[in-house]
Amino acid sequence: MTAAVERSDFDRYMVPCFAPLAPVPVRGEGSRVWDQDGRDYIDFGAGVAVTSLGHAHPALLKALRDQSEKLWHVSNYFTNEPALRLAKKLTDATFAERVFYCNSGAEANEAALKLARKRAIDKHGQDKIEIVAFNGAFHGRTFFTVSVGGQPKYSSGFGPNPAGIVHVDFNDIEAVRRVIGPKTCAVIIEPVIGESGVVPAKPEFLRELRQLTREHDAVLIFDEIQSGNGRTGSLFAYMNTDVVPDILTTAKGLGGGFPIGAMLTTAEIARSFTLGSHGTTFGGNPLACAVGEAVMDIITRPEVLAGVRSKAAHAAGRLRGIGERLGCFADVRSSGLWFGCELTGTFANRASDFVAAAAKEGVLLLQAGPNVVRIATSLIIADEELNEGLDRFERACQALAAAR
Ligand SMILES: *Cc1c(COP(=O)(O)O)cnc(C)c1O
Repeated sequence: MTAAVERSDFDRYMVPCFAPLAPVPVRGEGSRVWDQDGRDYIDFGAGVAVTSLGHAHPALLKALRDQSEKLWHVSNYFTNEPALRLAKKLTDATFAERVFYCNSGAEANEAALKLARKRAIDKHGQDKIEIVAFNGAFHGRTFFTVSVGGQPKYSSGFGPNPAGIVHVDFNDIEAVRRVIGPKTCAVIIEPVIGESGVVPAKPEFLRELRQLTREHDAVLIFDEIQSGNGRTGSLFAYMNTDVVPDILTTAKGLGGGFPIGAMLTTAEIARSFTLGSHGTTFGGNPLACAVGEAVMDIITRPEVLAGVRSKAAHAAGRLRGIGERLGCFADVRSSGLWFGCELTGTFANRASDFVAAAAKEGVLLLQAGPNVVRIATSLIIADEELNEGLDRFERACQALAAAR
């Protein structure tokens, strides 16, 4: 028999860099998950924007089951069919012509940043290594990506950070102009900044970035690890703008909960990663790619993306209503089924209280910093579950308002 485990075992056995909530989820279906006590929750976090097709989607289960009975791993001494099929789908659906697989968002950005450096050094010499990035950005937790991310609380305390990285304010083109130059090899940006509040980049700002990176022969990297894979109502957020990046990184929703990351780029830029330049043991493994392929087959359907947009409009309206009735939100931003509710008044900086109160009412939420409640539902959440989750969320907000 399997030994029983409980939440308190986390503190006994796990490295304390997380502080999980009390319920331990054991099962999920659609946008509902159940904990050890059989209580159900509406999942308004989708992990952190990961289980974009909900839990236990039949097509994903089938893809995983079928592949699991055929082949799990062959190393990169060989290629494999799911990896090739997914690469074809990713390149057919985007600007990209080449794909590099990995297992996470951080690894996708690590690959992108190394590629940008290598390309620039190969073409222009050892000095062209500077990376322009944005305050508040999140790009992952490897030492390079966390240093490029714009949150010193995550990147400090580990000794000297990698050199050649400058940060400026998001949406501030004048600040970019001051730091970009002949030594710049890359500008990396989230087209909708996720961890810092679900704030879209201004279209004009992105156009100017595109122009400036061209002038300086630097690559423009879009980190679409959270904004990609249908989240905003388009397959990738760059498709909502008239700007096309040189490199796009993605992960999270691409595997619907199975770990996979990918870096997409053009054939010309990809050439700088010559044989042996970069690599991975598990990247491109048949299981992850088979699931990724099933995800792509679903999220590229026009009716799925249209569904994201209509469900988003409905939920945004209801969230704004809650904000007006209770006076808790200064702003409700929506990029598809991805919301940032900015807290105000006596609710300011209490996003973690909202997360805890919501869990009590049976809805799972996220934060984006201390002052923004973040919601990222499944892209195909049933209307009934969406409304039930919003009802529960409203009750949680009422409980907080009553306790003032
Ligand atoms: C989550 C995230 C990452 C890091 O992805 P991991 O899979 O946790 O390494 C990078 N960039 C953005 C924008 C993210 O949201």
